[in-house]
Order: sequence, then C-alpha cells, then structure tokens
Amino acid sequence: MMNKIEHIGIAVKNLKDSNKLFETLFGKPQYKIESVVSEGVNTSFFMIGDQKIELLEATDSDSPIGKFIAKRGEGIHHIAFEVFDIYKEIERLKKEGFQVLNESPKHGADNKLVAFLHPKSCNGVLIELCQDIAK
Ligand code: ZN
Repeated sequence: MMNKIEHIGIAVKNLKDSNKLFETLFGKPQYKIESVVSEGVNTSFFMIGDQKIELLEATDSDSPIGKFIAKRGEGIHHIAFEVFDIYKEIERLKKEGFQVLNESPKHGADNKLVAFLHPKSCNGVLIELCQDIAK
C-alpha cells in the first residue's frame, strides 16, 4: 500500500538556475542540496506543505536524467510515493505485473531507500517507491 505522495521529481538542465527559479516560485529556498554519485545526479529539495519537490540535474549526459533531458527536455520526471515496507511493496507490485526497474532497493537522495517502476507499466509515468531509512 502506498501512503502518500512523498515528492515529485523534476528534471532540470541547470540546478543553480532552477533553484533560483523555484525559490522565486515557491517564495522559499530549497532545504537541501545533495549529489547521488551512483545515479549521476545533483538534487535539491523544496518542502511544500507536507510534500516535496525534487529538482534533478544530470552530472553527465549518460546518466538517466541526462538521457531523459536529451530525449524529452526538462519537466516532470517521476512521482514518488512513500511506502512503509519497500520490500513487501516490490513483491506485491511484481505479482501484479508491474515492471520493477531495480528489484533490490537502492540508496536515493534524502535518506531514502528507493525503487522505480517502469513507465511502460504505469501509463507512461515513472513511479518511485521510497521509504525512510531508519536512523
Ligand atoms: Zn525522487
């Protein structure tokens, strides 16, 4: 079961420029900038009420975000849902026929375990499952 929308991920070409743009849009600054080296991405996070907006900038053109931007340009990249037991959710969704891109959850930004569902199995939307890593 999914608990809530945790964040929406937006692919951007230049994180510095987009941080300024979204800071102006939201009327408040990002609260975190973080690089995820394994994903080839720099991220920043804005808190809007109980949900977050994640901006993603590719560190190289061969990374998933780099390829996404080359193909589709900037824009909404994924929707992330909070789950309480990511392993159980992956098993459940696999059984339901969803294509899970990484069957073992990996460490994402913002202290999360994450797994992605292929857009082909979700009407064209890349879905991220994320679970807080216990501190
Ligand atoms: Zn995300």
